[in-house]
Amino acid sequence: MHTRTACLYLVLFLLLFPACKSRLQTANSSRPIQFTFLQLNDVYEIAPLEGGSVGGMARVATLRKQLLKENPHTYTFLAGDFLNPSVIGTVKLDGQRIQGAHMVDVMNHADVDYVTFGNHEFDLNETNLQARLDESEFEWISANVFHQTENGLRPFTISRNGHTDSIPAYAILDIRQGEQRLRIGILAVTLTTNQPSYVSISDPFQAAEKTYALLKDEVDAVVALSHLAIEEDQELARRIPGLALIMGGHEHDNMIHRVGNTVIAKADANAKSAYIHQLEYDAATGELKVNSTLKKLDESLPLDPEVDQVVKGWEAKAYAAFRQQGFDLNTPITTLKVPLDGREASIRNQPTNLGVAIARAMKEAWPGAHCGIVNSGSVRLDDQLSGSITEFDLIRALPFGGKVLKVEMKGSLLTRLLEAGLQNKGKGGYLQVYGLEKKGDKWFIDGKEMQADAAYQVAISDFLMSGREENMEFLRTDHPDVLSVIVPGSEDIQRDIRLVLAEYLKKQ
Ligand SMILES: [Zn+2]
Repeated sequence: MHTRTACLYLVLFLLLFPACKSRLQTANSSRPIQFTFLQLNDVYEIAPLEGGSVGGMARVATLRKQLLKENPHTYTFLAGDFLNPSVIGTVKLDGQRIQGAHMVDVMNHADVDYVTFGNHEFDLNETNLQARLDESEFEWISANVFHQTENGLRPFTISRNGHTDSIPAYAILDIRQGEQRLRIGILAVTLTTNQPSYVSISDPFQAAEKTYALLKDEVDAVVALSHLAIEEDQELARRIPGLALIMGGHEHDNMIHRVGNTVIAKADANAKSAYIHQLEYDAATGELKVNSTLKKLDESLPLDPEVDQVVKGWEAKAYAAFRQQGFDLNTPITTLKVPLDGREASIRNQPTNLGVAIARAMKEAWPGAHCGIVNSGSVRLDDQLSGSITEFDLIRALPFGGKVLKVEMKGSLLTRLLEAGLQNKGKGGYLQVYGLEKKGDKWFIDGKEMQADAAYQVAISDFLMSGREENMEFLRTDHPDVLSVIVPGSEDIQRDIRLVLAEYLKKQ
């Protein structure tokens, strides 16, 4: 009897005060609230790749619109790494490199909602990163990235329309369905690998734990947006078992893992795929269900005309600049049967088929050369090349360009260089070579044991001969063991390492 009276009062209360009833009402009369997260990560190029058949921000825009039609509670996330590197980003317009301005513009038009920092955002200098932050119409979140200023560490700020706001550690989505109200907290963290002097990145686990503790009683559920290595995402899920979902990045191949009740998802780089997370919150049980589907962004998804137009505008400006340098960005060079591996984790640690192909192309471009040598840091693709490729893809792989020199040097100097390359394992100064091999503690060149006093013809990048590579300061054209240096002329193909690679791939 007593219970029934209470129920009656509750019903009356709900009828009289509908605005106040969200949490009270949910237990018996609510429907689960459904919402959608569209997740991207590691998107470097604004345009589709592989002959236009995959990826591209215009396809992302189409997918977002489709999802939005199905459910108005749709939010689009990009889990870091989008301002650099890219082909268009290297182009100078009005004396300034584009440096991600094209990506921010396209993301604004594609209506991305939330992002966090990836390590590649800090490839930009302080001025350029600040400009990109101020241009972005989407929201940035970060619990552990700070700006090193004259006044100490501060969150980065964004100045828009005369207002300056600090980037918050978390965001809260306020989702309403009829009279029901759902609050979802989103915290974001980034790995600590790339910290130029103007950036300070604190321990992502501690930052996430602290933010989670602040958030959890304010909201109905918490999810994370992260740019961490997968092992770190798994550690994050173990440390904060209450996270329903981690939308991650940094790795470039799609994956999905579950640690306890936490789903960890990453899509393929360059929007070759996206994760669609259909979420359903049951207020009666307090449970957030996550149903994740990997969506390939291929020719079955048309390009959104408005975003495509913005993409084409940037391409037109950049391509004109490249044409002036002698590149033809649209004509296919070859169709790769096997993907060429330019991922940093591979190419900075071991010979990869892309690294070896570049070194071989360099050797073959110079008649009489015994070997080819390039520093792995020249390759900034951080991805694999696959399918139909054009000179655009080679610029993507080798954004700095540079000349291929033919240098005659003594075996002793060549050995010193190769040993320094091995010492640089894990860094950009790790060398990719062709025609050279180490067996035991001896180096072999063109199949023969190298002699300290013999002279060898080496096809090598001009950057390496400048002494600017780490642990290779000794390697300069004026070194006494450098016997001759041949520099290509302005019409020679060796004037640009990308043209050299294009020529080699055409012959395969
Ligand atoms: Zn990354």
